[in-house]
Amino acid sequence: MDSGLHCYLHIPFCRARCPYCDFCLVTKQDLQDRFFSALEKETAARLSLLEGVVLKSVHFGGGTPSFVPVSYLESWLETLTKYVSLCDGAEIALEANPEDLSIEKLRNLAALGVNRLSIGVQSYMPEKLLALGRCHNADEALRTTGEAMNIFGNVSVDLICGAEGETLEIWERDLRIALSGDVPHVSVYMLALEKKTLLDKQVRKGLVTLPGEKAQAAMYLKACELLEADGFQHYEVSNFSKPGFFSRYNLACWQRESYLGFGPSAHTFMADGVQELRSANTSSLVRYIAGPCDALGFSEQLSDEARISEKIFLSLRLSSGLSVDDLLRYHEGSSLVLDAVDQLKEQGLVEICGEVIKVSRKGFLFADQVAEELMPAKTSRQSSAGRRQEK
Ligand code: SF4
Repeated sequence: MDSGLHCYLHIPFCRARCPYCDFCLVTKQDLQDRFFSALEKETAARLSLLEGVVLKSVHFGGGTPSFVPVSYLESWLETLTKYVSLCDGAEIALEANPEDLSIEKLRNLAALGVNRLSIGVQSYMPEKLLALGRCHNADEALRTTGEAMNIFGNVSVDLICGAEGETLEIWERDLRIALSGDVPHVSVYMLALEKKTLLDKQVRKGLVTLPGEKAQAAMYLKACELLEADGFQHYEVSNFSKPGFFSRYNLACWQRESYLGFGPSAHTFMADGVQELRSANTSSLVRYIAGPCDALGFSEQLSDEARISEKIFLSLRLSSGLSVDDLLRYHEGSSLVLDAVDQLKEQGLVEICGEVIKVSRKGFLFADQVAEELMPAKTSRQSSAGRRQEK
């Protein structure tokens, strides 16, 4: 067993559901008490089976962890640390929304041991916040970014581009305000239409019109330009960090380190050097509360093919890229894949730095498609298609 794991806790409560969000959460608050007692049971049951585990990070995600009373988080951390220990300097990160962050709440979270705060600001513009259906206003976004910086220092701000009515100028103002707050980490997301969300329905009915793909791509590229010029490292498709301030939990997931997930819809990945197992809890809160120790939604031992596909897909999301040697190994030495790399290079989607393939700034807009082009199944399909043509 890997002695250094990461841990994720999914807290499925939000004040209201944002129109674009399809995460596993509820806005009925009367289930909080029963959820946290179920969570304690799941945590104790699973951790009692593990020995000598040291956690390198704990990530409170959701939903909105800042929305629930800190006493629940404290009690869960007490349960957790009965079974596992935290390594020196472990990252304890919490996702928060501005409307929850009174000074008292910020201080209580710091007293709990939280040492990284990720704030769902999304925008500092009143009209854009309204279009996104957020619960906070521009003043709260500004105030809490500043106060969180004073208390935590290690603060990340989430920003969304591509809201209704948003122009490149509005987006640039958002970025410049975030930069003026001196936060050391920014996550930039392009508003996506998730199926069955309110926003999706509104767009389908013609009630809302979003900026097109080109406009959104220009916003993303503007973010890359401004943030990199300000000293941020673009270390993952959506994530920008000053040196030493990257999200350790998220980076661990992208680098395929082991992590345990608790709560509904939380994912777990365990790799012991021989086998790799992915599993996830049910996304039904009702089912989770009814049987937290029997909440598995799915579990799968990864095949070699699945591992390779994950490695290619995840490595290419990171600025560290994928080594040519590894790619050739995944293709069992077949150099056909290098033709695909050349084509991607000609299209400006990847760059070759020494022996490493890195996705370019433009390529990050199409990271999934770039990875798809380099999958063993894809290139073997291409080679057989090529042979058919030759005949
Ligand atoms: S606050 Fe975050 S998790 Fe909650 S509904 Fe909005 S986007 Fe989704």
